[in-house]
Amino acid sequence: MSKRDYYEVLGVSKNATEDEIKKAYRKLARQYHPDVNKEPDAVEKFKEVKEAYEVLSDPNKRARYDQFGHEDPTAGFGGGGFGGGGFSSADFGDFGDIFDMFFGGGRRQRNPNAPRRGADLQYSMTLEFKEAVFGKETDITIPREEECDTCHGTGAKPGTKVETCSVCKGTGQQEVVQNTPFGRIVNRRICTACQGKGKIIPHKCTDCYGTGRVKKNKKIHVKIPAGVDDGSQLRVSGEGEPGVNGGPPGDLFILLHVKPHDFFERDGDNIYCEVPLTFAQAALGDEIEVPTLDGRVKLKIPAGTQTGTSFRLKGKGVPHLRFGGRGDQHVKVVVVTPTNLTERQKELLRELGNLSGEETHQQSKSFFERMKKAFMGE
Ligand SMILES: [Zn+2]
Ligand SMILES: [Zn+2]
Repeated sequence: MSKRDYYEVLGVSKNATEDEIKKAYRKLARQYHPDVNKEPDAVEKFKEVKEAYEVLSDPNKRARYDQFGHEDPTAGFGGGGFGGGGFSSADFGDFGDIFDMFFGGGRRQRNPNAPRRGADLQYSMTLEFKEAVFGKETDITIPREEECDTCHGTGAKPGTKVETCSVCKGTGQQEVVQNTPFGRIVNRRICTACQGKGKIIPHKCTDCYGTGRVKKNKKIHVKIPAGVDDGSQLRVSGEGEPGVNGGPPGDLFILLHVKPHDFFERDGDNIYCEVPLTFAQAALGDEIEVPTLDGRVKLKIPAGTQTGTSFRLKGKGVPHLRFGGRGDQHVKVVVVTPTNLTERQKELLRELGNLSGEETHQQSKSFFERMKKAFMGE
């Protein structure tokens, strides 16, 4: 059985753009989708279109296909690391043993019946600032491939069996032996009868079209630990796609984005914020209330505090993700120069200007007391 050219399958030219390929694929996929098209060969046509699209939509696969066609000699060996030189076993002439030695390990991995780990999945999640600080439990829904319930992952219609490919005896590879004037050349290639799967499914399951897998929306409960930050990645073990041939499932990676906060800024485990002080509060000292992640707390401002001074609220920062305990909150005070002064306030400020530095401690204290009353309404 010979395979049709992928470009021909999609009805596009060899230099079709990605867009043209995508358009052609969509049109044909709709036309042959087994849910829509009840012609007997629709399933095969649909699969052929899908396979062609999978190769031509991937720039790497497409480049290899353009070079080697369906018989890509590197396809079986993990993507071919031979610098695109078109390696084939013919380079080794008659030395079949060297070929075997060289690819021994790689070929065992490519055994189509060997267990393979499922693919990892990635999911993006946006958190509120406080959710990142204190953690969160939530349910997320991810679309992922799951075993088909109808055929239990075999791909065979219930009541029918999967058969071992008689052409390659289940290895998924074919040996093509050529005798040339230079010796015997052994070429290995993907078995064309089973496309390298090692199995043939004579009667395909109609729910998964023989793939044994269907896309499902899976609900997963996740716990975001306290202290995660913007850009943190969370790994949920075993929640990726299921493995093949009894292999373990992949993992799910959740990439976290954290929204900024109006008042707090975060740097690692520490929180930063700014609070305004009146001139009188800064000069005379006061006790103010400062918002923290846990609610308001009292902060003592000593007399004579300069603008830009930082105060530390110990343990009011973000929980350490690994070590326990918490960072600190740093409160920077900004003294606000008063505007829209009343006559009385102006009078007092002038008095302050005149007093500048000459008065006794006692005098200045009583003056500051009056200032405090005038500016703070006490
Ligand atoms: Zn199925
Ligand atoms: Zn085969």
